[in-house]
Parts: sequence; structure tokens; C-alpha cells
Amino acid sequence: MAMMTGEQYVESLRKLKLNVYMFGKKIENVVDNPIIRPSMNSVKMTYDLAEKPEYEELMTTVSNITGEKINRFTNIHQSTEDLVKKVKMQRLCGQKTAACFQRCVGMDAFNAEYSTTFEIDKEYGTNYHERFKKFMAYVQENDLTVDGAMTDPKGDRALSPAKQADPDLYLHIVERREDGIVVRGAKSHQTGITNSHEVLVMPTVAMRPEDKDYAVSFAVPTDSQGITIIMGRQSCDTRKSEEGADIDVGNFNYGGHEALVVFDNVFVPNDRIFLNGETEFAGMLVERFAGYHRQSYGGCKVGVGDVLIGATALAADYNGAHKVSHIKDKLIEMTHLNETLYACGIACSAEGHKTESGNYLINLLLANVCKQNVTRFPYEIARLAEDIAGGLMVTMPSEKDFRSEEVGHYIEKYLKGVASVSTENRMRILRLIENITLGTAAVGYRTESMHGAGSPQAQRIMISRQSNLAHKKALAKAIARIKE
Ligand code: SF4
Ligand code: FE
Repeated sequence: MAMMTGEQYVESLRKLKLNVYMFGKKIENVVDNPIIRPSMNSVKMTYDLAEKPEYEELMTTVSNITGEKINRFTNIHQSTEDLVKKVKMQRLCGQKTAACFQRCVGMDAFNAEYSTTFEIDKEYGTNYHERFKKFMAYVQENDLTVDGAMTDPKGDRALSPAKQADPDLYLHIVERREDGIVVRGAKSHQTGITNSHEVLVMPTVAMRPEDKDYAVSFAVPTDSQGITIIMGRQSCDTRKSEEGADIDVGNFNYGGHEALVVFDNVFVPNDRIFLNGETEFAGMLVERFAGYHRQSYGGCKVGVGDVLIGATALAADYNGAHKVSHIKDKLIEMTHLNETLYACGIACSAEGHKTESGNYLINLLLANVCKQNVTRFPYEIARLAEDIAGGLMVTMPSEKDFRSEEVGHYIEKYLKGVASVSTENRMRILRLIENITLGTAAVGYRTESMHGAGSPQAQRIMISRQSNLAHKKALAKAIARIKE
């Protein structure tokens, strides 16, 4: 099998024996759980779109490893054109789901691992790159979704991994065996773990020599013995499990959902280990993965932004306010901010370069500038959306009241905007804006814009490292005719 259809993807997830907990209970049927299902539908979109002829160019490509046609979410980027197409694909998926579609974390981890394993082998004569290519061939041939897992709980931020009071606060090797290793620890904020076949684990920070057991990277199936998934709580999450839920959910079909993933003595066979104690390469892996994921936000967040701008413009139409000049100007500002993010995503891709392994890396300075803007602009876009939508977005009665025989007619009458638009449609659009700015999707659009792919300070450190101030000083001296 080369590529899965959306339906085949869903069926493949049913075969997994995931150990998932939510609201204190074990979830036996993860795929059909009404709270988790929308997040799975978002990943399914990456399969559905790949089947459509009009998106073939964007959603699929040819593997450099197997020579077969593959879903672009499993691609090892072969050119700057590939990097640009990646961002365009993410914008498209954001537009179609208005949520986090999760599959990019794996794609970004693949590309960081591909080049880093090559460079470790060159230094140490290890065979991580061949192992990794074998793993990639398996992923591509089976069209798998892989969760890229980086963020450790981190405990006391002032202490390095090996100095923590509890050694498990960073995931680490607890046993080295002839046939592999045993690991313990956890990964936080894992988007899409319940919708993934495999989990690809990476270290979360650069390591010192004493952190040898913490400099570890590997891939295992998500239903491996010892893995426990504890779902995160989201604002308004239980609306999805209410009987007859529809309007109040805001985005009924799609979502994203994060979890804490615990690795309690999980065995990793040798052929699935891609970093094992080479502490000085942990930083390279982290920096490259973070760079790719900061590029990704110049696509996915822009796609969700497109939906939010559209919803806001509709809210203005439904209020009869669409011709008011300040409303028009605010929609222009939202578009300007959103397209600025896209420009950064495209720019860091177009300015990418070939690594020693042959795949392409983004321009790291521009990718970090991209993500730094993402920590700000979606907040301003959301602020303007709330401004235009009006207070009703958060004071509106429930769908059950709207459907009620006793009071439904009052809602129908008093929540009406322009006469030509039904009250129900006005409610639907306001709930969608609420969902993206304050509800379940706000995890992906707001707070993830701040902290996903690294918090703002992490980008500032990278921007500072890449800024080349010495060169800029030399330029100024030349112009000012300074001779020393
Ligand atoms: Fe993809 Fe964006 Fe979700 Fe990251 S936040 S996995 S880039 S959709
Ligand atoms: Fe993310």
C-alpha cells in the first residue's frame, strides 16, 4: 500500500490499542469518542485532500527514499520548492479544518532527524541515518501519521535534566540492553497523539556531557507497552458531548486535542534508536525541528486566520455593518497581519538551503521571525474579530434554548440581525468566532500561537544568534567612512 484514503486511515486507528484517559476514565473507543473525534477528523483531512486531483500537486510528491508517490506530510524536502509547497499545503489544511491538523509535527521531526542523523554518523561512524531511512520508508509505504514528541515537563527550569530532583522530569534511558534501551519520562502538549500510529521522540533542549542518558531519540508505536495518554482539558470541551450538540460547538467536525504522554519503562529496539548519548547533537536536532515547526506556523495559522477573517466579515454582514468604514478598515488590518505571517512562512522556505544529508532546511533566522510574529498577530486578529463580532458572541443563549418550545421564539426574534439572514446562521457564525478565539480551537489558534514550536523568548535567542551584528556594524562603518 502506498497512500491511504481517509476511511482507511480511520480504520487503521481502530486497530491501535491505545491506553487513553480523559476525565478520570479509560477511553475504550477512542476513534468514536465525541470529544476526540473532531481532532481525528482534522488529521483525516490530510488524507482526504491528497485524494483530490485538484490538490494532488500540493498534497503529494515522490519519495526520495522509495521512489513512490507519497503524501507530502511524509516527505523529506528535496528543494526550496518543496519547502514552499509545504507551507501552502498547511494553509490549505488550516482553511479546510479551522483547527490544528496535527500531522506537521511528525513531518517536521522527519526532516530534522534526517539531516541530524547523517551528521552524527559522519562524526561517530554510527548508523543512525540508515536506521532512520528504514523507518521513513516504513512510514511512507504505509502512509502513517507520526506524532513528533519534543516537550518534556522540565520541572525546575533552573536545573539541567540530570540535576532535577525527580530524574523522570526529562525523558531518559533507564536501562541499556543488548537488543535496545528502556526509557522513562513524559512528553507534554502532545497534539494528535491519539490520532497517530507512531511517536517519534526527541530531546527538548541542548544537553551537557552529564546529560548522556537524556540525549535520546527514537520511534515506537503509540500503543507500545508502558505508554499512557492523559487528554488535556480544553475550554468548552464538553459542549461536544452534549446531546444533539451542533451550533454551540462552533466547529462541529474539526478540532485539535493535546495530551500528556507518559513513557513508563518503554522498550525501544535498536533499529528504532536515532540518538543515544551523543549529547552535543541534541541541540542541533532541537534547533532544526523547532525551525521547521516555526516555518509551519506561517502556513497553518494563516489558514485558520482565513476562516476567522471570513467569519468576522460574515458577522459584520449579518449585523448590517459591512459598509461601515472602520469595519472595512479592521478587516483590512486582519488581512494585512495574516498575510504578513504567510509572507514569513514563504520567505523562510524560499531562502532555505541544502543540508549535508541532501534534504532542505529553512532559513532559520526568517523561520524564527515568522514564529515571533505568530506569537503576536493572531492575538490582534482575534481582538479585531471580537471587536466586530460584538458581545453577543459570549452572551448568546444555548442551542437548546433556541430549539425550546417555550423560549425559542424569543431568541429567533431578538437575536435577528438583518432581515434576510436567519437567526440560526447568525448564531452559527458567532459560535465559530467564539470557538476559534475562546473555545476548543483557541488552544490551536491563540495559546499555541504563543507557546507552540517554542515560547517567544526561544525565538528571540535564535534571532539574536543569527542576527550577525558584526556584519551590520561593518556596513555602517563603511558608509560612515570610519577607519580604525
Ligand atoms: Fe501543524 Fe500547525 Fe498543528 Fe503544528 S500547530 S501540528 S504546524 S497545524
Ligand atoms: Fe503546534
